Amino acid sequence: MRTARRASAVEVPSFLRQLAKETEKMVTFFFKGGQRDNQSGEDGEFEDDDCYPSPYLDRPILEKHISEGGSQREVNYALASMQGWRVQMEDAHTCMPHLEGELAEWGYFAVFDGHAGSTVAQYCARNLLEHILQTGGVKLENDPDEVKEGIREGFLAIDRHMQKLSRQDNWERSGSTAAAILLSPQHVYFINCGDSRTLLCRDGQVIFYTEDHKPFNPREKERIQNAGGSVTLQRVNGSLAVSRALGDFDFKEVEWRPQTEQLVSPEPEVYELERSPQDEFLILACDGVWDVIGNEELCAFVRSRMQVCNDLREICSQVIDLCLYKGSLDNMSIIIVCFPGAPHVSQEALKKEAELEQLIELKVEEILQILKGRDEDPDFLYVMKFLASENIPGLPPGGGITSKRECIISAYQRLTMSLRPQEPMDIEGSEDSN
Ligand code: MN
Repeated sequence: MRTARRASAVEVPSFLRQLAKETEKMVTFFFKGGQRDNQSGEDGEFEDDDCYPSPYLDRPILEKHISEGGSQREVNYALASMQGWRVQMEDAHTCMPHLEGELAEWGYFAVFDGHAGSTVAQYCARNLLEHILQTGGVKLENDPDEVKEGIREGFLAIDRHMQKLSRQDNWERSGSTAAAILLSPQHVYFINCGDSRTLLCRDGQVIFYTEDHKPFNPREKERIQNAGGSVTLQRVNGSLAVSRALGDFDFKEVEWRPQTEQLVSPEPEVYELERSPQDEFLILACDGVWDVIGNEELCAFVRSRMQVCNDLREICSQVIDLCLYKGSLDNMSIIIVCFPGAPHVSQEALKKEAELEQLIELKVEEILQILKGRDEDPDFLYVMKFLASENIPGLPPGGGITSKRECIISAYQRLTMSLRPQEPMDIEGSEDSN
């Protein structure tokens, strides 16, 4: 039965219902061992009786957007993004390893995480750098304070510009976070507005990461309250989960307050660090990644993969898969910017990884034999659970058994084929017939 939409008082129970439903979906997804195709189930009927349309799909869209660029000798980068469980893909990004003209030695990378639509995120991905450069603050002389002020002014300028456009062209009421890096020959400029995050790994350690702008941070909360708003359910006026963003013009209409003192502020925080030969890599990612993995964990995982894989695209792709299987329900985007000081593939690490994969195969075989002995059918979820409870030495730091999922799937497929050759296993998961 469908009931009419009511005011926000029903939001919490609806959210809880949804949570239960999404959990159920995910368990089904894991049980089936992951869906490889890209079709959302079109069975021509409404599959739930919720009065709110779900922001989630029945199955995640696993197709990735992957690209790379730069040069091995200086700075190279790769990017991967995935829509995942969300009904819309609202992330956008920009990767420019070289700017134009006299700034040819500079680079710029950015991740935009859109909400309530993708218009603002897309517009920023195409135009934010231009607004920053137009301020004239980013110059070859490279006075860090001028650069930082230029970046700040550029954010405020693009936001004013978009506010006009959104009225003129009747944009949806979307907004976007921005996490960006401006790279000069001497400095790394970390730019953050919202809850996407950038970190720098230097000499094996996370030595810097940006602070998320959450409405409940004391400084953010104070600004929100001073603008006549409140923070409830950890959200601005109970609805928006970030306290700084581009767009979100419904939250920027307090006429008696300046642009940077509205409920939601477009002002970025900008930090500069001097570059060092020990710099290994930068990671820029949206909250779909950070929701399920910590800074140190992700840094350790990326470092360990760099020692067994020289394809940065593949590493980005593995991070996205890891986050999906760790339970991220959001769009996911990651950019890794790699400096010459990053770890390289080592024979020793490759040998250890091969040993690990052998051990995993043996374990899978062992579990399947146990199931066979009990006269039970092979069960992928059972295998995953069993492996997760085992103490397996040498698993990738930060990734654990989840990051070896591909290896487990291929061992499982090969072994179940050889155990029962008459029945090809449906590991890819297809629609249930019941
Ligand atoms: Mn997000």
